[in-house]
Amino acid sequence: MAKLTPMMEQYTDLKERYSDCILFFRLGDFYEMFFEDALTASRELEITLTGRDCGLEEKAPMCGVPHHSADGYIARLVEKGYKVAICEQVEDPSKAKGIVKRDVVRIITSGTITDMDKLDEKSNNYLASLYVGKKGIGISYVDITTGDSYTTEILGSGPESISKCIDEIGKIAPSELLVNTGGDSDFCGELQSRFDEVRTLEEWYFEKELCISNIISQFKVHSLSGIGMDTSSFAAISLGALLEYLKVTQKQSLDHISSVNVYIVENYMMLDMSTRRNLELLETIRGKSKKGSLLSVLDKTATAMGGRLIKSWIESPLLDKYEIERRSAVVESLTEDITMMDQLDEKLKQIYDMERLVGKLVYGNCNARDLISLKHSISQLPHIVKSLEDSESQELRQMGEGMDILWDLYELVDSAIEDEPPIGIKEGNIIKENYSPELKELRDIALNGKSYLSRIEERERARTGIKNLKIKYNKVFGYFIELSKSNIDKAPSDYIRKQTLANAERYITEELKEIENKILGSEDRMVELEYEIFGEIREKLKENSQRIQSTARSISKIDVLNSFAKAAYLNNYVRPEILEDGSLYIENGRHPVVEKMVAEGRFISNDTYMNGESDRMMIITGPNMSGKSTYMRQVALITLMAQIGSFVPADSAKISLADRIFTRIGASDDLSEGQSTFMVEMSEVANILNNATEKSLIVLDEIGRGTSTYDGLSIAWSVVEYISGKSNLGAKTLFATHYHELTELEEVLEGVKNYRVAVEEKPGEDIVFLRKIERGGADRSYGIEVAKLAGVRPEVIARAAEILRNLEENDLNKKSPSQLSIFSEESREESRTIRESGMSYSASVVQSEKEDSAYEEIVAEIVG
Ligand code: ADP
Repeated sequence: MAKLTPMMEQYTDLKERYSDCILFFRLGDFYEMFFEDALTASRELEITLTGRDCGLEEKAPMCGVPHHSADGYIARLVEKGYKVAICEQVEDPSKAKGIVKRDVVRIITSGTITDMDKLDEKSNNYLASLYVGKKGIGISYVDITTGDSYTTEILGSGPESISKCIDEIGKIAPSELLVNTGGDSDFCGELQSRFDEVRTLEEWYFEKELCISNIISQFKVHSLSGIGMDTSSFAAISLGALLEYLKVTQKQSLDHISSVNVYIVENYMMLDMSTRRNLELLETIRGKSKKGSLLSVLDKTATAMGGRLIKSWIESPLLDKYEIERRSAVVESLTEDITMMDQLDEKLKQIYDMERLVGKLVYGNCNARDLISLKHSISQLPHIVKSLEDSESQELRQMGEGMDILWDLYELVDSAIEDEPPIGIKEGNIIKENYSPELKELRDIALNGKSYLSRIEERERARTGIKNLKIKYNKVFGYFIELSKSNIDKAPSDYIRKQTLANAERYITEELKEIENKILGSEDRMVELEYEIFGEIREKLKENSQRIQSTARSISKIDVLNSFAKAAYLNNYVRPEILEDGSLYIENGRHPVVEKMVAEGRFISNDTYMNGESDRMMIITGPNMSGKSTYMRQVALITLMAQIGSFVPADSAKISLADRIFTRIGASDDLSEGQSTFMVEMSEVANILNNATEKSLIVLDEIGRGTSTYDGLSIAWSVVEYISGKSNLGAKTLFATHYHELTELEEVLEGVKNYRVAVEEKPGEDIVFLRKIERGGADRSYGIEVAKLAGVRPEVIARAAEILRNLEENDLNKKSPSQLSIFSEESREESRTIRESGMSYSASVVQSEKEDSAYEEIVAEIVG
């Protein structure tokens, strides 16, 4: 029977151990793939499929990529969701007996990719792990390119914890998510449908003992309490499993993951995924571009590190007044000192991604140019510190005083690394000769070998007194000293005789042999030595990873705060006052993004006044396109900006801390996931009603639109009651609606106030949007006027106006909900009781279906 060749046997053994990966098998200068892997890779990478004799009758399908350009191919496979195992020769081929030993040295997945060309420099690349236990969920995540790591947990196992967990993961936006198979399978399914790369890991990864020991050894502590964790926590299990996965895939110690941020989800403002999307914090809903997002207005960061941090700040607004004020105080001092702001900006711009450099140091893939960039970055630090220390602001001075300027590392790199080194680290010319006497000598020898020999010749002539002493070279003896016969008795005792000729003697000396070795091997040795020295320098820097990381963190913070200051200065923002009494006052507020999109000076500012008691729900009516959603989002964004420490677009603002912001705005993209608009809308409403508290800010835009008029109106009405009624939620709410019937609620519900967007109507002319929010309710919808503005054909507009008149004559729309039977006093009482007993609004839906059919009959009659 045909048998696999020994090499193919080696291959299949490895492939068996790494069956879930595409195995990149190193053969000479190529990584080769065989069998199934070859078929997959040739298809995905569009590379030629060939065959190779493998000992069997049929050739093995094979394809390969050159090792020097493998990174790009690996990244493409990883991007498509494959895991790639890199197999290298792990012994010196010259010393190998039989076939050279090979092994997998690293597994690359989307959460563990370190190829900087493929990663967005302004985004973290997180690998996250989720442990779903019976009574809680642990969440941990790490960016191995920077060493940043975090862990937290959510207690409880009900739908509420699950939705919290999904929101948290949405915020992290990991490129790879690990979960335990033992977890809830529905939940896993949901994760799979929402996030890109969800990988289930076997249960052993989550064994408690293993997890704890992983944490202890990674963070070099005696017990978990040393890093503020608890052995029985869900967080510990998810973190331990994450570290195990890193061990299995990276196969090397990752020293830059030296500390973990243990945080409490509730310490930050919670933003569910749809709110984050609706408010367009980091990207727009349509087009998913940064342009048009809040980030685009606030991000004036100068470094890649600041670029990453500002995103995480925007997504994690603070709930602690003191912390917020510390940030905004710094922003304030910077806006008051434009020169300093500019100086900082200029210095920061020259700072390289020090966080990712640390990752490169650990992975050993940084080159001499990276080190020069580090040196250059460090050279900016004293200027930055000086600016901070000279500042009037105490916060800035503190930041400056606490910063390690890493000067010893500057000196190390400066003394050792050439100022303009090549990209490669194995070709020499990277180390300064003064750094190493040996290197200096080698360079000297290589460059001046001949003159070096003639210097020795001179010296030896002087020493022996032999005028015709010569240093010569031949292939057999190398360099030697030749003395004529007449002088041989003057040969010093350290001359070793090598050859006797007719009229001369040839000698060698220790020194000459040494120099010969040096001259002949100097080039090779020089390259080798430079590589060694470079490795030592890299090692020394690596030992200082934590210091570099800590300075990098301070720098990114300064960068973000300076960015807030720049945005505030350029856009005329003010420092908000932070309150805790539930009130919200904004004078002449603006929408930070829309104000930049309309022509300069054309944005109409608006006030917001909510005292949290008698004014806490704004019912906003007005035509489509009049600016209702812009206004509501502006209030939400101003609140959020205040809580990340930024200034806000207004003339003045007093903002009470919001524990959460909820939004229900417009049609959602979830349509593609098979849910109807109405269903999506209602589940978002359900989420809001279930989770909002008195301290939340709710934005509701046109709820109830996805169903028939009466259903919609009933639901909207009931939601307003629930939020605003006595003993109910009491959250501050902005509620835009088409149903002008809802304006009647001002009369009956405490805290409800009507507002409308002003329009100017002149007989015979188009309506004009004034965009000004004013007290009072709109008495009608202006739908037909807006349709006309939008260019709907005049005959259709005229007919619509006629139908409307007919409808109004039948008085159907004039009947306000409170006059309709479903809203009779009695049934309102009833519906409240039903709601309180948890049976929701099914009863009123039955009612409204009756109303609907009556309505449809009338419409049929009118329309003919
Ligand atoms: P609505 O929610 O009432 O349908 P939008 O808030 O979507 O209206 O506003 C429609 C458009 O009007 C926005 O895209 C913007 O261009 C413009 N707009 C809204 N508010 C203002 C404002 N305060 N000042 C100037 N233009 C505005």
